[in-house]
Amino acid sequence: MTSEVMIGIETHVQLNTKSKMFCSDPSDQKDAEPNSNTCPICLGMPGSKPKVNKVAVKYGVLVGLALNCSINKRVFFSRKAYFYPDLSKNFQITQYEVPIAVNGKVQLGTNTIRIRRVHIEEDPAKLIYSGGDITNSKGVLIDYNRAGVPLAEIVTEPDFKSPKEVRSFLERLSSILEYLGVYDSTREMSLRVDANISINGGERVEVKNITGFENVEKALSYEIVRQNGLARMNVSVQRETRHFDAEMRTTKSLRKKEYEDDYGYIFDPDLPMVNLGEDYVLNIKSSMPELPEQMARRFEAEYNINEYYAGVIVYAGKDMAKFFEDTVKLHNNPQIVANWLINYVLKSLNWRSERISNSKIRPDSFAEFLDMIKNGEITERYAKELIKKYVDTGESPKSLISGGAKKVDKSELIKIVASIIDSNSEAVAQFRSGRLEALQFLIGQVLNKTQKQADPKEIKEIIESSLK
Ligand code: MN
Repeated sequence: MTSEVMIGIETHVQLNTKSKMFCSDPSDQKDAEPNSNTCPICLGMPGSKPKVNKVAVKYGVLVGLALNCSINKRVFFSRKAYFYPDLSKNFQITQYEVPIAVNGKVQLGTNTIRIRRVHIEEDPAKLIYSGGDITNSKGVLIDYNRAGVPLAEIVTEPDFKSPKEVRSFLERLSSILEYLGVYDSTREMSLRVDANISINGGERVEVKNITGFENVEKALSYEIVRQNGLARMNVSVQRETRHFDAEMRTTKSLRKKEYEDDYGYIFDPDLPMVNLGEDYVLNIKSSMPELPEQMARRFEAEYNINEYYAGVIVYAGKDMAKFFEDTVKLHNNPQIVANWLINYVLKSLNWRSERISNSKIRPDSFAEFLDMIKNGEITERYAKELIKKYVDTGESPKSLISGGAKKVDKSELIKIVASIIDSNSEAVAQFRSGRLEALQFLIGQVLNKTQKQADPKEIKEIIESSLK
């Protein structure tokens, strides 16, 4: 049974500003004791007055521009009123009536995903469900460190036709955000997705707060199966909010979905109207960093590598793209650099879920490695063995070579063998009387003399033929 699937998503992204959205507490909570980065403003104490973080506003504009939105020139903040322990004020400061950016689009293959709006708001506190999850735990702990961290909320139209498409969009989005420098993917829960899904024109169901791209795909796939199951039993789908249980890979009902109007938004009188002048927006536009899509096209043109290679390198992350360009400066064969990066280095890194910027390898030693293949100092076959060790240790490839299949000059090796035979008459005599340890000893001497740069098998052959 085929079904017509419609999915729209809301993505909350933590902006990596130094301080929170409306106060000067740090916004990065790494290693912070729970509830230590708080103040009267983000705790919503009476008499405290919020102040707008200008960097967060700028990041909001950057995100809007990168998603091809138009920027609203006069924006303001509103209070979204609801009671829940993650908000000590009983309202969240957000943008409702006039978001910072609207009407954007992202091209995903042949499908255009329309961006309805991008707005900035504050993150609520983090709730820690002890001994279970939101549906079954007996108690909840609250960490207000997260309260007030700036978020960009990116809302799409229901343009996705499959869970897989949503996943590729999220991968694209996180890459764009990373290139913009507004987002730190290593922060815990830095990107969270709410997905609305309906099939065959039925009611839509919202699955809330999913983290991890794989989980988003799984949660939506499960919902399609569940909603199709209901349809087969002639039960109509109810409009509701559900929670994705990553362990059970199912969604569970949380509450019947309220409508956006139910929140009773009101203009926040503590905060000023924010005027984003024409010049301000133009300035940000002209200082925009290169985005992944542009960079991939530039790589194809500038380095003459194919679309696939350019895409893999660019979307593997800004650090990978930089590593590629830095290596090409030292080893001027982009095809070879891309080939070895994608087929060997990236595979090794992915296997350990490590990023190239956190790995031990550097462009100069990688270029040295490729130079050695080019100059015939090592065979390609041996290089394929060596590269794992190189990615593991980051050691200079020259020093990694200990014998192996390194190509050495044979006449040079014959000379060295002759000099070793001359100066080790005792071992030679033992070898002639049939003692194999003597042969091993002689090979070892030759290896030492070549700083372990020669092939032991080749040494053995030369010694044997010299002592016949
Ligand atoms: Mn929100």
